[in-house]
Amino acid sequence: MNRRHFMLVALLLGGLGSAQISYVVQPGDTLYSLATRSGVPVATLQQLNHLTSTALQVGQTLQLPRAPTVAGTAPAAPTPATRSVGGVTVSVPTHLRMGDAFVLRLSGPGAAGARVQFPSEVGEDVRQPNELLTPLPAADGALVLGRVVLGKTTPVRYRVTVGAQVLTGEIPVSGQVTGLQQLNMASSITDKLMDPARAAEEAEVERAYLRRTPQVWTRPFAAPLTIPPRIATVFGQSRTYSRGGPVQYHYGTDYLAPIGTDIHAINDGTVVMVGTYPVRGGLVIIDHGAGLLSLYFHQSRTLVKVGQVVRRGDIIGRVGTTGISNAPHLHLELRLRGEAVEPAEWLGRMLP
Ligand SMILES: [Zn+2]
Repeated sequence: MNRRHFMLVALLLGGLGSAQISYVVQPGDTLYSLATRSGVPVATLQQLNHLTSTALQVGQTLQLPRAPTVAGTAPAAPTPATRSVGGVTVSVPTHLRMGDAFVLRLSGPGAAGARVQFPSEVGEDVRQPNELLTPLPAADGALVLGRVVLGKTTPVRYRVTVGAQVLTGEIPVSGQVTGLQQLNMASSITDKLMDPARAAEEAEVERAYLRRTPQVWTRPFAAPLTIPPRIATVFGQSRTYSRGGPVQYHYGTDYLAPIGTDIHAINDGTVVMVGTYPVRGGLVIIDHGAGLLSLYFHQSRTLVKVGQVVRRGDIIGRVGTTGISNAPHLHLELRLRGEAVEPAEWLGRMLP
C-alpha cells in the first residue's frame, strides 16, 4: 500500500518527466536502509547518484526514485479483510504502521446507522480515546477514518455497532526503525520551549484538535509547495532537541524551501487558526472537516484570516524560519482527531 502511495506522491510532486525526489541524508541513514525504504536495490541508488562507494554523509543530498517510507520495510499491499454485522459489510485493513491513518469501510442498508469505536485507544496517549464515531457518507456506503498514534505497536481494536449487534476485531500494527536524530539546537532556540506564551499556543492548538465538522473536501489532496520537494525530515523521525533530552517524534514532513516561497492549501477547508507562536512560528491551521486538520508551520508571512474559506491550491502564506526552526522550511502536519498522521499517505489521494 505505502510503496504505491509514495510512488504516486513522488510522481505528483516531482512533476512530469522527473519521478525522483531530493532527500537530505539523516543521522543513521545508510545506502542500504535508504534503498530498502525506497523499494529499490542499492545499485539503483548508486547509479542514480553517480556514487562510487556506499559511504554517506549526514546532510548530503541524494536523488531517490521515490520517498523513503518511515518504517524499515514497507509491507506488501494488503487486501482489506471483510466481515459483517447486522447486514452491514465491514472492510478493514489487515495491517497498519504507527502514524498511519486508515479507512474502515461500511456497506449495506444499515451502514450509515452503524457506530464505530476504537477501544484500544483507552489508556493510550490519544486525544478523545474510544470516541463514538458516526460514519462519513461515501460513494459505496459509508466510512470511518482511524489513526494509529506514533509510538504505538500494539494492535488497533475496533468495535462496530449496528442496532443491538456488535462486531469486534483487531488489526496488527508494526513500528518504525529509524535512527535517532540528535538536533543539539542552540539554547536560544530551545528556550522557546520555555516561553510563557507556549501554554497559550498549545491550548489554542488543542482547541482546534477538538473540531468535528462535516467533510468538505471532494478532490485529492495536493502538494503544499509547487517547487520540487526536498524533504529534510520525514514524518515519524524520532529525535531529541538537546543532547540527553527526551525523545520526541516528528509529527510532520519538513520541506526545505527558500524564504518567501508560496504555501498552498492542500485541500478545501476553513481557516481556524492563524498567528505567530513561540514553537510553530507563523502558523495557519485549516479544518477540512471529518476531524482532519492541516497545519503549516514556521511561515515568514501568513496571508489568510480565521474563518476564511479556502480552496485547494489557494496561497495561504510564505515559507520562513520562525518559531523553533534552524533553516527556512515548511513543516506540514496533518492531524486526524488531534493525532498526527503521515502526510504522504494523503497527498495525491482522496483518503489514506
Ligand atoms: Zn518539522
